[in-house]
Amino acid sequence: MRVLLPLGLPQAYDYRVPVSLMVQDGDFVVVPLGPRQLVGVVWGEGLGDIASSRIKNIIEKLPAPPLPEEVRKFIDWVATYTMTPPGMVLRLAMRAPGALEPAAMRRAYRLAGPPPVRLTPARKRVLEVAADGFARRAGELAEEAGVSNGVIKGLADAGTLEKVDLPSEEPFEDPDPTAQQPILSPEQAEVAGHLRARIGVNEFSATLLDGVTGSGKTEVYFEAVAEAIDQNRQVMILVPEIALTAQFLKRFEVRFGCLPAQWHSDLSSRERRRVWRGVAEDRVKVVVGARSALFLPYPNLGLIIVDEEHENAFKQDEGVAYNARDMCVVRASLGAFPVVLATATPSLETMSNVWSGRYAHEVLPRRHGGAVLPTIKPIDMRQHPPERGKWLSPVLVSAVGETLARDEQALLFLNRRGYAPLTLCRTCGHRLGCPQCDAWLVEHRFRKQLQCHHCGYQAPSPSACPDCGEEDSLVACGPGVERIMEEVKVSFPEARIALLSSDVLRGPAAYGEAIRQIQDHEIDLIVGTQIVAKGLNFPLLTLVGVVDADLGLENGDLRAGERTYQLLHQVAGRAGRAQKPGRVLMQTYMPEHPVMGALVSGDRDKFLEREARGREMLGYPPYGRLVALVLSGPELDKVQGLSRELALRVPHSDKVSVLGPAPAPISLLRGRHRVRFLVKATREAHVQGFVAQWLEGVKVPSSMRLSVDVDPHNFL
Ligand code: ADP
Ligand code: ZN
Repeated sequence: MRVLLPLGLPQAYDYRVPVSLMVQDGDFVVVPLGPRQLVGVVWGEGLGDIASSRIKNIIEKLPAPPLPEEVRKFIDWVATYTMTPPGMVLRLAMRAPGALEPAAMRRAYRLAGPPPVRLTPARKRVLEVAADGFARRAGELAEEAGVSNGVIKGLADAGTLEKVDLPSEEPFEDPDPTAQQPILSPEQAEVAGHLRARIGVNEFSATLLDGVTGSGKTEVYFEAVAEAIDQNRQVMILVPEIALTAQFLKRFEVRFGCLPAQWHSDLSSRERRRVWRGVAEDRVKVVVGARSALFLPYPNLGLIIVDEEHENAFKQDEGVAYNARDMCVVRASLGAFPVVLATATPSLETMSNVWSGRYAHEVLPRRHGGAVLPTIKPIDMRQHPPERGKWLSPVLVSAVGETLARDEQALLFLNRRGYAPLTLCRTCGHRLGCPQCDAWLVEHRFRKQLQCHHCGYQAPSPSACPDCGEEDSLVACGPGVERIMEEVKVSFPEARIALLSSDVLRGPAAYGEAIRQIQDHEIDLIVGTQIVAKGLNFPLLTLVGVVDADLGLENGDLRAGERTYQLLHQVAGRAGRAQKPGRVLMQTYMPEHPVMGALVSGDRDKFLEREARGREMLGYPPYGRLVALVLSGPELDKVQGLSRELALRVPHSDKVSVLGPAPAPISLLRGRHRVRFLVKATREAHVQGFVAQWLEGVKVPSSMRLSVDVDPHNFL
């Protein structure tokens, strides 16, 4: 049999099955590899490409359910598409330490024999508690009876209590599709009906659930989830960030009577084991997770929901470079079940699939419960500039003042952490840069630190210029959220202000507490980065001020316009979610820019069509295909040498062209020099084949790395 190991090897290898073992495809087995013993997965019949004298035996089979065929096919598919060794993709499916061993047991006690001869009052209380026949841990039993652990031990020694082993893991609760069904509006009910009808027909379908923020997309796709649960199928809900799941989980719990299983990078290894195993054994019905939940071993998956499908967070850039949104569609098609992509601002990729008829399109055009969409207006910063040394236009400042005076909440949004993005010396003009990257250091004044946002380098803020030595000569240039915070504290000394930024709110608990304070109106004014942009519901929030609407348009990324639109639209959607109407003011130096125009007019589709035409003309995705190759290494001349060599090898093709080599936009990252190629192909071209042919036989020295990113989203 072939066994695939979770390593960067090019393929699965043949192993012999000893007569004492019964193994089938998908079984987890232990095999020798050189001097090591590793866990791998049986991956089909052997190819017989190894001399039989050299074939080694499978050592043992592990007591875990086999990896389902659908999952194995999916792993192969992802590996081929992303041009990564299949073992590296398998590794994503095996990230649950201990999941392949039998569950740990815990020692418990229950009533077994006659009462002891010496029946003290304490012992009597224990017997009363244990009379129900349930097994309890010594500690639990002692606590319930109000005795010390020693009493329990004494009763066990006397033979009155017996020791039993119970699985130590909490079982999973089954979500109840009828726990609390909402009354859907006619529009919502119609869409929900369509989604329900696609479940359980054993047919692939992809649906864009396209609804303005607050239209009830979540309520509606919960109906599809309920249907899948009814039909006894597993469901996966992918969400872009863990941070925004606190409110989400609560809603799920209200709708289905219990929490779903969760899967993300912050889980303890115990919890990972529990969820992985629960999924593999079909005990877990619904998983809510980050992109890696896609690689859990579902034997019975029947529905995938991708919430906020346009989100960049679904794209993994490192290791196996995959787009979880796209791979969800692949997974659903391999499993012949529906996938629902929900968003208020569809990606152009998804929209073009709707236009071509590949995806169904369900629209929720109105906010639920009569809440109206906020009005959006630009503030032309050329006409209404801020005072010297400030960043907020008087127009925005007075709007904030009015809002607070009405006892409502306001949000000032700036997608930039820290105090200032650049520090410069007034005397010599020196700019403080990261020693390991081609990037400026960002001042974080609260922590009195300079940080590199690319590699995490940190240093105390110096008092003198490191170049010319001049004291007190360093000045902060441009604003980050901390600086806006400083400004509003002066402008609104009475207001209760919160700063929401990922480096200030560390971990889900701090985040949850901040959300609670805002909900309970313990906060009047919020200054925040994009962590406040998404998914949150604050009924009293009626004003959103965008401090720098032009920020995302500055980089030349092909999706800059699309992304800026999505982000600003999403932030705007935070305003006026309940009965009070909301308004949005965007500070911009380019009020005539198409992105601003689309936000103000609300004509999203016209904007998307315009973007689409631009991309089509240039042959960019989704009308063409891209693969980014980045060659990196510590020595510039070696990196350049190998990139020249690669350039000479580019195969000829009418459908594919290669741009570069050129220094990557961040040409130095974590001490490594980076050179980039961009492969640009027509949609019909077999671009992976082209790249494979190009790179065939290329030896990359171990100090260097060549990373391949199919359908890149990140062009740094
Ligand atoms: P979206 O995901 O489209 O932004 P949500 O599903 O979050 O919208 O709905 C917005 C708000 O309206 C939520 O507080 C939700 O509970 C409420 N809501 C939506 N539809 C209904 C309904 N049919 N009945 C009761 N509340 C609803
Ligand atoms: Zn750096």
